[in-house]
Amino acid sequence: MSLVESISHITLTASCIKDFDQCIRFYNFLGFQTISQEDIPKPASAERPEASWEKESYLHLFGDKVKNGITLRIVLPNETAKKSIPHGESSLEPEDASITIVSKNLAGVESALKSNNIHFQKYTYTEAGLLTTNPSYELSRTEICARDPLNNPITFTNKPIPFGKTIYPVSPMLSSKPADPIDENITPLKSKGKRIGVLTSGGDAPGMNAAVRAIVRVAISRGCEAYAIFEGYEGLVQGGKMIRKFGWADVRGYLAIGGTLIGTARCKSFRERSGRLDAACNLVKNGIDALIVCGGDGSLTGADILRKEWPGLIEELIQNGKLTVEEADPYKHLTIVGLVGSIDNDMPSTDVTIGAVTSLHRICEAVDSISSTASSHSRAFVIEVMGRRCGWLALMAAISTGADFVFIPERPPSENWEAEMCDVIKRHRQLGKRRTIVIVAEGAIDRNLNPIKPDYIKELLIKKPLELDTRVTTLGHTQRGGRPCAYDRNLATIQGVEAVNAVLESTPDTPSPMIGVNENKITSEPLLRAVELTHQVAEAISKQDFRRAMELRDPEFADNYEAYRATTLVDSEEMLVPEYQRLRIGIMHIGAPAGGMNQATRAAVRFALNRGHVPIAIYNGFRGILQENIRELSWLDVDDWTSKGGSELGTNRTEPDIDLGMVAYQIQKQRFDALLIIGGFEAYDSVRELRDARDKYPAFCIPIVCIPATISNNVPGTDFSLGSDTSLNAIVDSCDAIKQSASASRRRVFVVEVHGGQCGYLAVLSGLAVGATSTYIPEEGVSLKTLLADVNHLRRRYGDDKKGTSSGRLILRNECVSKTYTTDVIAKIIETEGSGLFDSRTCVLGHIQQGGASSPLDRIRAIRLAVRCIDFIERQAFPSMSPHEKAGPKVYTNSEESASVIGIIGAQVVFSSVVDLLKETDKKNRKSKRAWWIHFKELVDLLSKWGYSEKEAQTEDLYEAIDKDVHI
Ligand code: ADP
Repeated sequence: MSLVESISHITLTASCIKDFDQCIRFYNFLGFQTISQEDIPKPASAERPEASWEKESYLHLFGDKVKNGITLRIVLPNETAKKSIPHGESSLEPEDASITIVSKNLAGVESALKSNNIHFQKYTYTEAGLLTTNPSYELSRTEICARDPLNNPITFTNKPIPFGKTIYPVSPMLSSKPADPIDENITPLKSKGKRIGVLTSGGDAPGMNAAVRAIVRVAISRGCEAYAIFEGYEGLVQGGKMIRKFGWADVRGYLAIGGTLIGTARCKSFRERSGRLDAACNLVKNGIDALIVCGGDGSLTGADILRKEWPGLIEELIQNGKLTVEEADPYKHLTIVGLVGSIDNDMPSTDVTIGAVTSLHRICEAVDSISSTASSHSRAFVIEVMGRRCGWLALMAAISTGADFVFIPERPPSENWEAEMCDVIKRHRQLGKRRTIVIVAEGAIDRNLNPIKPDYIKELLIKKPLELDTRVTTLGHTQRGGRPCAYDRNLATIQGVEAVNAVLESTPDTPSPMIGVNENKITSEPLLRAVELTHQVAEAISKQDFRRAMELRDPEFADNYEAYRATTLVDSEEMLVPEYQRLRIGIMHIGAPAGGMNQATRAAVRFALNRGHVPIAIYNGFRGILQENIRELSWLDVDDWTSKGGSELGTNRTEPDIDLGMVAYQIQKQRFDALLIIGGFEAYDSVRELRDARDKYPAFCIPIVCIPATISNNVPGTDFSLGSDTSLNAIVDSCDAIKQSASASRRRVFVVEVHGGQCGYLAVLSGLAVGATSTYIPEEGVSLKTLLADVNHLRRRYGDDKKGTSSGRLILRNECVSKTYTTDVIAKIIETEGSGLFDSRTCVLGHIQQGGASSPLDRIRAIRLAVRCIDFIERQAFPSMSPHEKAGPKVYTNSEESASVIGIIGAQVVFSSVVDLLKETDKKNRKSKRAWWIHFKELVDLLSKWGYSEKEAQTEDLYEAIDKDVHI
């Protein structure tokens, strides 16, 4: 750690003895050492006579060899001097300077600040400006801005921009909130804890337990107390034993369990003011000053009402003698934070609610099973799915399972939908389909708001002209989900952490927030607005304003709806392009198999056919092209590829450089007008190779686009590659089983080796989802020091465990993290150093990680991306083509954009040319440099290392940060 150039002294002025002491402790904590006055020169800027100071202390942070570090002088003026200091000038000298500390280990700084409950904000810059996502620290200039106990700005940065005396401008970015006061009785800088109550309410949703776990553990590790309120609002109204203090171990094992372990209920009395009065009284009596509610729109509406009424409720409780003024005084303000737990995904302020994706998993499993019996008997099935007034589950299930027709409330069918539906199904049957699946959302309506019910649809299918053997299946409560999928565990965990942050950051003036997720980023917006927006959807539907209802859904909803139609309907004349614009599109898979490859191919084939193009399968990648192993694909050929994992086209790692000339010859011979390459890093590399060879081989001057599909999620240009979600779920399933085995053996640590190449994505995200004790990833490496720290931690944890309790623990090790510390070596070290307190085993997950059936998220992403790729190919081949203008000659293109990778960044679909992506590519390690997920690693540590992190890691981290100096 070193300090900025040109500043050798800074004087900080405290206004009282408490601030003075806190300030010294704060800077000691940051590594400044208190020194005696004789050892230092007097600061040049100290104009006031020494006699003015009641107290004075010097602290020094030692810099590198070139510069001599910096001295802080902290002073407490006496009464006379205080008066002479003009208001507002009391904090810093030299003028306007703030303290900027350069450190390579900002992650360490961040976690140390967090564990000491010091409010901070993080900003990351690239050449293009402020980045809103969270890329890895190494890639960009990042600043962590905080304030010391005197409210002076302090900035930690990893890459300072060159500047002279005036130090970095930090103030506009910082909230005006000073660092929390320090509790004198606790180890350095411990904030005075809040009491945070958490309840789950309304319909249960998978992932609620993960949220409770995260809230309890983060609350404890940040010096607060956590209280579980059982049975939702019922527990709040009744009080007594329904409100219980929770410790770290109370939430052990919560991650893998569906529903909610602290119970939920529909509470009538909370709907009445008298019930809320009892709830308020119970909160105050239990000393709870912050409440986190995880539930659906009803529960959050209730929370919002409680927030609004709070001052009145407290007043009434004082008046009716249930609380004394003294009792009520500290609770004038109640902090409420909302988390959306609902399988329906019906809150417009968040893209996904906790539980919706798991529910989708269960629906897809059920429909996949029904599809096989439907095919066997050539039957039709009408399947009703949950979702209340929201069609998200129904639409996503229809997309993921390739249903023939879907009914959702937001987009009612046309007036004569009965005929239209029968017509679509008839055409599908004529093409040779043996099964028919119709999915109906429970809130489905027609344009006149009349409900559309499965039994009515069944009647239509039984009758002429279709005369199908039809069954109705209502999936019912299986859709509540059970064991949460990886996505829900992580979403709930991250949002739980954010909820605690929101509690700690809230002031009486901040509106109660609702934590959501938008474009893959966690958001916090006023609960009031979120509740209002939800009610607007119902209102829009009741007013038949379906356009507005659609707009209020997440940004992908409409996109996915269009993709579904484009890949399901056949022979729709409107979709066809003129004959001369029809293209021969080659589709191939490259690299290792990954979930979503088949679904992307299916969607591309279907949409291409609907446009009049000729989709051609190239089997076995570039080898197949050389061997002319190709075939045109029909609508029916790909029909049952909706759930299949792996690669139906066959795949290998061969890139076109095996024989570029021959590849060019075959492309020309087969008259390919475009190439769609689906695969991992090799696929991306192949697009680049073909593009680079365009000068030599004009056959490559065609649109070439890559859909990233690899479990490792290492391809530049996208946040998610297809297959990564399927793989995460496969790892989570295996790890749950391993953890169960480890727990049954009482004291066993499993070292689980996961794939990912040089990219730690899988290890970190699955580590978060299974509650791993540690994850070892190539981005950080693993050293003896890490292993030692983890062994010590494990000894402590096993030492702390109650007698007779069983707990298995997992360490996830990426396959490439170290040549020396192999999975076996690590397991042996752990066992040996465990000295009999615990043993260890290894598990190499291997190819299991490719998963079986593709996960719903991979299927949905695949379809959305494939449809956009066909659209991209058309636009590249016919640059003048637009929805209104379909004329223009086909061009042979060698523009940069015509060789691109499609990606999902946030919630947006983005095409990036392979030339542009070079900047983002770590060629040596074959991965993207933009590791947006890296900060989740700290969460894995935070959620498994309490006790250790609190007492030791905080200082260790910080001193490590100091060790890894950057010298400027
Ligand atoms: P969800 O939260 O899943 O939408 P509900 O609509 O059943 O489920 O709401 C759960 C609970 O939230 C209700 O039982 C009730 O206690 C409380 N609640 C819902 N709406 C309100 C309201 N308007 N006022 C006060 N409390 C409410």
